Amino acid sequence: MSGDHHDHLHTHDDHAPIGATEPRPEYARLERAVRELLIAKGVLTAEDIRKQIELMDSRTPAMGAKIVARAWVDPAFKARLMKDAKAAADEMGVDTSNSATVVALENTPARHHVVVCTLCSCYPKAILGVPPAWYKSSAYRARTVKEPRKVLAEFGTFLPDDVEIRVVDSTADMRYLVVPMRPAGTEGWSEDRLAALIGRDSMIGTALATTPA
Ligand code: FE
Repeated sequence: MSGDHHDHLHTHDDHAPIGATEPRPEYARLERAVRELLIAKGVLTAEDIRKQIELMDSRTPAMGAKIVARAWVDPAFKARLMKDAKAAADEMGVDTSNSATVVALENTPARHHVVVCTLCSCYPKAILGVPPAWYKSSAYRARTVKEPRKVLAEFGTFLPDDVEIRVVDSTADMRYLVVPMRPAGTEGWSEDRLAALIGRDSMIGTALATTPA
């Protein structure tokens, strides 16, 4: 698979727009073949698969936003989140028992993190739900490591030149949750109000938290 991985970094997709989708009929066929075989062999039922999809679909970035908002207002919680993000998510009622290790990365005025999975589409699904289509595109995966500032600009995210951009590569064993900076002008806000400023992309690192008008 590592050969496959390497190829992805040097395809024509390197210059494709991030929004470009990639029809992969072979994966759809492979998925159907494996699914039908698992059902035929009695390993899984169609109902098991349906329930798992339903569980996955019930997870949304709102959960991540609650976690980040708590971290913004509660330094002790933030310390626990930075130390062990899964345990901190569990505290907030997010079931991460089936999740790989999750590492929280704090953005600061000096350093901005952006998460990519160059190999496939590893993502903290337990906390943010299903990743957006662009996260899985080979253009995003290939270009973010090579020209992160340009990719961020395409998302409308412009960072001062003196801000270091650190691109973090997810793996099957290690997922990342970006903790965006708390916007100015939100002193004294409730967690719920703060959470509304924390969009999915700000926890991937392609956007910032919303600044209140
Ligand atoms: Fe992956």
